[in-house]
Amino acid sequence: MSSKPVIGLLGGGQLGRMLCQAAAPLDVEIAILDAENAPAKQINHNSHNINGSYKDAEKIRELASHCSVLSVETEHVDTTVLEEIATTAKVAVCPSWKTLRLIQDKYEQKTYFAGQGIPVAESVAIEGSGDAMLASLKAVSAKFGYPWMLKSRKDSYDGRGNLKISNEADLERAVAEFGNFSCYAEKFVPFQCELSVLVIRTEDDEGRTKRLLPYPAVETVHEDNICSRVYLPPRTTPAAACERAQQVASDVVGKLWGRGIFAVEMFVTQDNQILVNEIAPRPHNSGHLFIEAVPYMSQYKAQLTSILDQTLPAKIEPYVSSSIMINILGGANPDSHLALVEKAKSMYGNKMAVYAHLYGKESKPSRKIGHITVTGLVASITELEEFAKPLVDMASDIRQ
Ligand code: ATP
Ligand code: MG
Ligand code: MG
Repeated sequence: MSSKPVIGLLGGGQLGRMLCQAAAPLDVEIAILDAENAPAKQINHNSHNINGSYKDAEKIRELASHCSVLSVETEHVDTTVLEEIATTAKVAVCPSWKTLRLIQDKYEQKTYFAGQGIPVAESVAIEGSGDAMLASLKAVSAKFGYPWMLKSRKDSYDGRGNLKISNEADLERAVAEFGNFSCYAEKFVPFQCELSVLVIRTEDDEGRTKRLLPYPAVETVHEDNICSRVYLPPRTTPAAACERAQQVASDVVGKLWGRGIFAVEMFVTQDNQILVNEIAPRPHNSGHLFIEAVPYMSQYKAQLTSILDQTLPAKIEPYVSSSIMINILGGANPDSHLALVEKAKSMYGNKMAVYAHLYGKESKPSRKIGHITVTGLVASITELEEFAKPLVDMASDIRQ
């Protein structure tokens, strides 16, 4: 192995692809474990890339043998082999397998945070299947009242694994659809909006927190459980609530282990209280706009800088006054999104800019295949919203 650090990455989707885009100008080498022609591999031809599943323990060991650091683009990975590698092969796993193991199980995650004094919605484990599960669901309905959220403890993303329980009739459906999964119930939060805060975490050799560096809070909008848009700054959340969100996010990440970038998803309640929804121990959809909004420290550069333990800035300060990110989701037809992409590529504004990002993925309905970032140098978020409206409308039309 050369003395130059090689980062091994489990997963080569769009997050891995954008990590490679950040790594190239820094001459940082990344070796990817994922299927041939995965989005990140299309732009990264490292000799140590491995074709296969990032869930395959043997392939993870093979990847580790060529790398000094392992990182992930998803939390849904085999933490037993990562623990083994961190302990015996002395390859740094970033973030720690301990964090990944905790985050993987949403119920464990919530219970841990609640025990650490982090504000979260109340959760209850659901026991059994069939009639036992139905009884458990009825008990939750009596405790929480309708509506409440039924969630799969593991393997969920983009809301696949969430079911809103609105009345008694939904309980039978829940048993039929979720009976084979390990689940938990969560109180419904009638939020006024959702925020996300990215936090960079570094630690010393003893595993003690060295730095917790939060990004400004962004507002996230979800439709059908999938993030559709992100706003910087949040459109209506008071500045004090945004600052509180940064504080809560730093507190949460301070309770985790390992170096890296973390996203903290939060609810803002009607009375401006902050409740933590969940953590992503990696770059996140809500942080894409920082590629343009904080060009000196995108969330991808932050992942590289933190896991390689290099120098971080004193503060994360946007270079723009406002920014909006619009997800491009696949529509009914493989080419449903093309007009939106062309529109994005043709739009230029007065001190406002539009950046299209495509991930090299085949289009499928509701699949994240790209995003558009709009930035305003001096525009308010309201002015930028007006400018971005044609793109927002076209993106919404694709969903119909
Ligand atoms: P991700 O793609 O972010 O990993 P996920 O599948 O893990 O998504 P969650 O983050 O649990 O799903 O939920 C998705 C969305 O559903 C949230 O962003 C929020 O809009 C809504 N939601 C989740 N939990 C609750 C709740 N307890 N009360 C109200 N809305 C909720
Ligand atoms: Mg999730
Ligand atoms: Mg989520």
